[in-house]
Parts: sequence; structure tokens; C-alpha cells
Amino acid sequence: MTRTRRVLVVGGGSSGWLMAAYLDAALNREARLVDITLVESPDVPRIGVGEATIPNINHMLAVIGIDRLEFMKRVDGTFKQSIRYVDWLHGNGEYYHHPFSRYRPSPIDRSGRDWLMSDRSIPFTETVSAQPIICELGLAPTMLGKWNFGTPLTFAYHMNALKFADMLCDLATARGVRHFLDNVTRVETTADGAIEAVSTAGGERLEADLFVDCTGFAAILAGKALGVDWVDCSQWLLCDRAVTMAVPYERHYPGHVRPYTSATALSNGWVWEIPLQDRRSLGYVHSSAFITDEEAERELRAFEGAHAETLDSRVVRFRVGHRARPWVQNCVAVGLAGSFIEPLESTGLYLSSLAAVILAEHFPWHGGMQPLAFRFNRIMVNRFYEILDFINMHYCLTRRTDSPFWREVGRPERVNDRLRAKLDFWRVKPPSPADFEDQFLPGQAAAAVPNGGLPGDDRCPIDTAGLWGYDSYEAILYGMDFLSEECAVWYGPDRPAPRVLKRVLDKIRQAPAKLPPHHVWLQRVLGMPAYAAARAPGAG
Ligand SMILES: Cc1cc2nc3c(=O)[nH]c(=O)nc-3n(C[C@H](O)[C@H](O)[C@H](O)COP(=O)(O)OP(=O)(O)OC[C@H]3O[C@@H](n4cnc5c(N)ncnc54)[C@H](O)[C@@H]3O)c2cc1C
Repeated sequence: MTRTRRVLVVGGGSSGWLMAAYLDAALNREARLVDITLVESPDVPRIGVGEATIPNINHMLAVIGIDRLEFMKRVDGTFKQSIRYVDWLHGNGEYYHHPFSRYRPSPIDRSGRDWLMSDRSIPFTETVSAQPIICELGLAPTMLGKWNFGTPLTFAYHMNALKFADMLCDLATARGVRHFLDNVTRVETTADGAIEAVSTAGGERLEADLFVDCTGFAAILAGKALGVDWVDCSQWLLCDRAVTMAVPYERHYPGHVRPYTSATALSNGWVWEIPLQDRRSLGYVHSSAFITDEEAERELRAFEGAHAETLDSRVVRFRVGHRARPWVQNCVAVGLAGSFIEPLESTGLYLSSLAAVILAEHFPWHGGMQPLAFRFNRIMVNRFYEILDFINMHYCLTRRTDSPFWREVGRPERVNDRLRAKLDFWRVKPPSPADFEDQFLPGQAAAAVPNGGLPGDDRCPIDTAGLWGYDSYEAILYGMDFLSEECAVWYGPDRPAPRVLKRVLDKIRQAPAKLPPHHVWLQRVLGMPAYAAARAPGAG
């Protein structure tokens, strides 16, 4: 018979509670085989940001057993169907979408290549996905009373991250996860460097077989107690701060709730706009090497408008990188304790979710943690670099030269080696599925990032397209006008208008009659209050 295993999660932010709830749902389904305890500080607040998600959240909710309507009600949730990138290419008000749904004609998807041969008079993603137009029309992705509209549109959510952690806490503790509100003050280690127990200010001594460090940037187990190295990646992503602000609808309601996240490039970084049911959240992600926090705050207020002048703001500092080995001995670092990449594609909670899924799959039922840790680390570090490449690409394709920041991010040395190999290859052959079959491309250094610190593994991190395949790359590349000069030479000046897939045209034709405006869906289905829309400046 399997002995009951003990897991101690330290930290009760979104990562800690997601880990506790997921492990409990995944491992204790048939019988209570794992005792899970979570200890969180009553004094150190959760970071509170982390409000935009990607579609994998639906899998997490399903496994944990959370009804999505209940979820949206509890966390002030709204739908997210895309990220709309504004001003990233020239800074002239241009935009493009990275939608969650797009059609892939089979058996061979030539949409990208066809578009490259066209005159580009319709943005690429609008030829393969109905979601950019559905977003621009401000429509919900589902009908009133029915989740699907023909082929379902993929969606994720915007949510209040603090309420999400509270919801997971209520659910997990009701199912038997033990919860302590206490400060961990001491970590006891064994002679071979494993963790034996942690002690708290309140006098508890908590032992476990496996410890999960979800203590945020403090990383009190993996970083402070075990001294696991942090691999800094700030040479490729220069931003290290965000000035954040919330605009309550009571103060200013624009009259609609956008069904997408906006990411607008400013002078020294970019600002997120995340609409919830009671407010919009904003955050100016910027680089302290190029702009002070005070200047960034002023720019953010000017971006938002006069109604933002007296709103509170706060500065969040971060560092881009990852633990060289997220799982060492019997300690696994997850969430901000394990890695951080700026939130341009909303991947923070995704990485915490992935860690929970992979940890459940690699759970050390029978001891012998090292091989499990090796695989866990390999998967997590690969995925980290996959995300890093993708975010790096948003910056390095810019043609903006209007500030030292934008000139700097466009310099060749700011492009990491794997991404450079991809871009060079795609200048010869545009992206297609086979590029991710074998992830080693011409010109790529064998150890571009020295093996991510994984002992016994001297292969460089690879991109398995676990998160983004050729189609997401196409969305960003062509949104950023990649290959425009090459195509002018390859295909000449007289090119036809782009062909829009019939399925896209059909969906767009039907959408306004079938899909309600996003705010109407939120009001009717979730009971979001009807706020008075702010009047445009100067309007009588
Ligand atoms: C600017 C910014 C924007 C972001 N935007 C997004 C986004 O849009 N989408 C997304 O998916 N992700 C985003 N993220 C990432 C996201 O915020 C995190 O992945 C998520 O909040 C998880 O945080 P965490 O639980 O790891 O850490 P935290 O929320 O910081 O939680 C740490 C926990 O550890 C506890 N703790 C600390 N010290 C002790 C101690 N001594 N004893 C006991 N407990 C202790 C604290 O009390 C707290 O409960 C963003 C991050 C930043 C910095």
C-alpha cells in the first residue's frame, strides 16, 4: 500500500493556492493519498497583479472542479479573446491582434504564405480568425444562455487575482487542505541539502516529504535556504518595473468592456489595460534604465486621461529570469519564486499552472526524486525559454526609433540566439509546423544559454511549441510587418488583396446577430452593475 505523502506549500498567492488545489484534485481523486498543507504569511501581501490569463486556465478550472460561471462571478471576471498590440511597430496608432482562435485549413495550412504574397491590405490575423473583428465590435465570445456559437471561440478571462486566490483557498480548505496563517521564519535542512521542516513565528514546526516554494520574489526556501542560483535574462528583456493603477467604473466607465487585453507601447515600455466587472486595471511596464518611476507614472496618467489624475498608483519591481533548477532535492520553486517573464503575453499564471500539472504527473510517490526533478526542470526551463523568445520577438521587430529605449531593444545584441536563428530561418522559409518538429535551426549555438543550469544535460533549451506554434508566431511576425521588404522583392509590386477564409467571413457575418455586446453578457449573466458611461471631454 502507498504511504500517505506530505506536501507543504509555502506561500498563498495565486501560485500557492493553484498548486494546493490542483494537487489535491489531481492526486486525491480516488483516495486521500497526499496530505497537503499551505502556510502563508498574514503580513506579506500577495503581489495582486496577474489579472490576464490564457486559455489553459479552463483546463485548470475543469480539473479542480470549478464551474466557470461561479468563477467569473467570484473573481469579477470578464472574457479575454485576444491581445491587441497598439503602437509596437511605428508608434502611429497602428495595431494588430493576437487572437486565441484561428482556423487552420487542412491538410496544409498555406494561409501565412498566401498572405505574404498579397498586398497586405487586410491584417493577417483578420484573414484567418474572426476574433479580431469580434473584439473590435466589443462582442462576447459566447451567446446569451449558451456557451457556444457554432465552432466555439477560444477564450480566457480577466480576473481579480486576489479574489482568485481567495476562491481557491476556500475550495481547497473545504476539501481538506490544511491552512496556516503564519510567517515562516526558519528552514531546517539535512546534511545532503534537502529540507526537513520549516518553523513559523507562531511556533509550528511543519515537516513534509515535498516542499513547494510559492513565496513570490522572496523565494525563502529555494533562494534563501537552498541558495539555488537565479539565471538572469535581463539582457533580452529590459523592463524591470511596472507602475500600476486601477480605474473604478464608478469614476470612469467607458460605456463598454473590451473583450481583450490591450498592450499599448509607450515611450519606454508598454501599458496593459485589463477590464474587469468593476474597474479597468492599468500597468506601465518600463525599464528603470531609461525612465524614472515618477516619469513613468506621469506618462501613465497622461495616457489614461484627466480622470486618472488623482487615482492611487503603485510601483512593482521585478527581475526577468528563472531558478537554474526549479526542483532541487525535495523543494520545487513555483510562481514568482521559480521564474519571471514580463506579462506581455499573460504567461505568469500559466507557468504556475504548468508546474502544478507537471508536478502532479511527476509526483514522487516512491522516493527517487532526482530523475523526476531532472525531467520537471527540463520541461519548465524549456517552456521558460520558449516564452522568452516569443516576448523578445515582440520587441526586436519594432521599427520605432523615437526613444533610446526603442532604439536599444532593436539592437542585434538584444535578440537572443535561439530567436535570431528562428528569424533568420524564417527569412528563408516562412514559419510552418515542421519548424517545431526538430527545434534546432541553422546557426543556433549548441549551448545558447548554458544548459539552463541542469547538471547532466548539456543541450540548450528548446522550443517544443508547447504554448505557441507557427500560427501564433505568424500573428506576431506579420502584425509586425516581418518580411515586407523581402516579399516586395520576391513577389513584385502588383499583388492581389489578401484572401479571407470563408469560415471567417461566415462567422463575422453572423456574429452581430448572435453574440451580445460583452458588457451586456456580463450584466445579464453575471449581474455586473450597469454603470453610467463617462461623457467624452467637451460633450454637452
Ligand atoms: C507587474 C506584473 C504583472 C503581471 N501580470 C500578469 C498577468 O497579467 N497574467 C499572469 O498570468 N501573470 C501575471 N503576473 C505574474 C503573476 O502576478 C504571478 O504569477 C502570480 O501572481 C503568482 O504570484 P505568486 O503566488 O508566485 O507570488 P505572490 O502573490 O507574491 O505570493 C507570495 C506568497 O508568499 C507568502 N510569503 C512570503 N513570505 C513568506 C513567509 N516568510 N512565510 C509565509 N509566507 C510567505 C505571501 O504571504 C504570499 O502569500 C504579473 C506579475 C507582475 C510582477
